[in-house]
Amino acid sequence: TIGLLTLDKNGNIAAACTTSGAAYKYHGRVGDSPLIGAGLYADDQVGAATATGWGEAVIRACGSFLVVELMRQGHSPTEACRLAVERVIEKNPDYREIQVGFIALDKQGNTGGYCIHPDFDYAVYTPDGGNQLVVPDSKL
Ligand code: ASP
Repeated sequence: TIGLLTLDKNGNIAAACTTSGAAYKYHGRVGDSPLIGAGLYADDQVGAATATGWGEAVIRACGSFLVVELMRQGHSPTEACRLAVERVIEKNPDYREIQVGFIALDKQGNTGGYCIHPDFDYAVYTPDGGNQLVVPDSKL
């Protein structure tokens, strides 16, 4: 999945995501990516999140909604993503190395992400700061 989160100068927040090619796909399957609250979620009062990885596990945890609600409770974007990944792992104890990750953006423009997969990273663009590639510390 490629996720995209935006915050404009008027405080409007939006989320979008694509989904990958063949991985996990079979005819008729609906993954997390098109489901609001699972693959993506945005709330102008708090922030936004998108998910990548094993969609069924993300759906069962309402993953992106969970990330935004954790930020509403005061967690930073990275901490909210980490807690959401831990929740997904808790719900799937047989899949300790589960491939699920989230990125998040809060209303103040803070960004974060978390995944236990080693290849996970994300880019941040700000009008004054240019592009920055972020490789999160992804060890539980
Ligand atoms: N989350 C997607 C799905 O389960 C897979 C991906 O593109 O990461 O459909």
